[in-house]
Amino acid sequence: MITKCARCGICCNKGGPAFHIEDKPILEKGVIPLKFLFTMRKGEPVNDNLQDRMIAADSDIIKIKSQKKSTACIFFDGTENRCRIYQNRPLECRVLKCWDIRGIKEIYSKDRLSRKDLLSGVEGLWDLVETHHRFCSYDKIRDLSDGINGGDRKSIEQINGIIGYDTHIRGLVTEKGGMEPEITEFLFGRPLLKTIGILGIKIKEQ
Ligand code: SF4
Repeated sequence: MITKCARCGICCNKGGPAFHIEDKPILEKGVIPLKFLFTMRKGEPVNDNLQDRMIAADSDIIKIKSQKKSTACIFFDGTENRCRIYQNRPLECRVLKCWDIRGIKEIYSKDRLSRKDLLSGVEGLWDLVETHHRFCSYDKIRDLSDGINGGDRKSIEQINGIIGYDTHIRGLVTEKGGMEPEITEFLFGRPLLKTIGILGIKIKEQ
């Protein structure tokens, strides 16, 4: 029976952690740059790892990105089976014990860190993030889904407008605002073109 971490790397290979309020100082200190994070926005269909089922996120869920071509956390060094930010690893990583999940269950959906906690003091940028979230709300998209799949012209025009805006704003902050493209998945969540299919909406890119 396992009673301590054997550094097998299985948990880190499954993906990065979500952030909680307690992790805010790590991000404020810049130990983990924002470009390594992504946001699953309120209302977005997400997999609840504890219940192992899809649910709509009830708040922002900010997570560490995975490596390209693998689900492993971007900070996992697979050659040496070690965490590159071990001294500053987030709360979920510190609490997770694969042999006893009571600790992670206790904190899993509590006090999640939101973009507002990190950005509300950044004049201009926070307004942009809020406007995007309102205009591209997942609840709004859900309401349109039956119409879209049924071929309703007005619903299709609306979803085209929403996806167009979601794409446009990412280009705007990188081309005009000089931000790194990688940071847009933190600021505006995962692109709708990637997530909309999870809602059962079929789209064709042109
Ligand atoms: S932050 Fe470190 S401990 Fe946490 S999942 Fe990533 S590699 Fe593993």
